[in-house]
Amino acid sequence: MRAAVVTVGDELLSGDTVDTNASWLCNRLDERGVSVERITTVPDRIADIARVINEYRAEYDAVLVTGGVGPTHDDMTMDGVATAFGREVVHSEAAEEWLVEHTDYAAADLTEGTTHLPAGARMLPNPEGVAPGAALDRVYVLPGVPGEMKAMFEEVAEEFEGDHTHVEVVRTAEPESALIDRIETVREEFDVTVGSYPGDDVRLKLTAGDPETAAAAAAWLRERVDPA
Ligand code: AMP
Ligand code: MG
Repeated sequence: MRAAVVTVGDELLSGDTVDTNASWLCNRLDERGVSVERITTVPDRIADIARVINEYRAEYDAVLVTGGVGPTHDDMTMDGVATAFGREVVHSEAAEEWLVEHTDYAAADLTEGTTHLPAGARMLPNPEGVAPGAALDRVYVLPGVPGEMKAMFEEVAEEFEGDHTHVEVVRTAEPESALIDRIETVREEFDVTVGSYPGDDVRLKLTAGDPETAAAAAAWLRERVDPA
């Protein structure tokens, strides 16, 4: 399964808020064997949200959108998703029923817009908050508040599944430029992909389809590089 993550919010683009939702989602999807191929951040603007969702739903098996969900003036995401599908946002009975049953809200007290979802969308309950999410075709809309986003993702996590991979990490004190020959050989000798991530030391990430191959490649490298 190939996926894209879209985070929505002016506060992300101005640098006021760090986009922790994208990295958390990528991590969880990666654990489930899903290959995430895009992270895109867009402003709170219907046309921008709709355009990127349309592009990504044509290309990927799943599109996960977070942020801009709720009844305030800058919450545009449900409208953006509805626009992408050529639909309206409409009151969701399922959302109202869930909120009345699981929160202290009475139907009459719910702020206008709280239960508005793209027509035909499946309502995703928000176990940690009020604003519901939505799933429509391969597009999943989750809240921006990290705790709410995580809880809602876990409710639908089983819908995201791919080929599981196995990872080993080898750390070395050698500079990246000195490692080129050994990286080339490990890629030739073993069925692995190799990521090389310099920092204080160099992290060599070996990914394979089975644990034995990952372990064998890591053992081969550990014998041949200076440890970190
Ligand atoms: P929103 O759903 O856009 O109204 O955002 C609700 C709260 O979640 C705000 O405090 C946002 O700054 C925060 N938030 C939204 N998107 C993200 C994100 N991608 N990463 C971390 N926090 C976020
Ligand atoms: Mg926002």
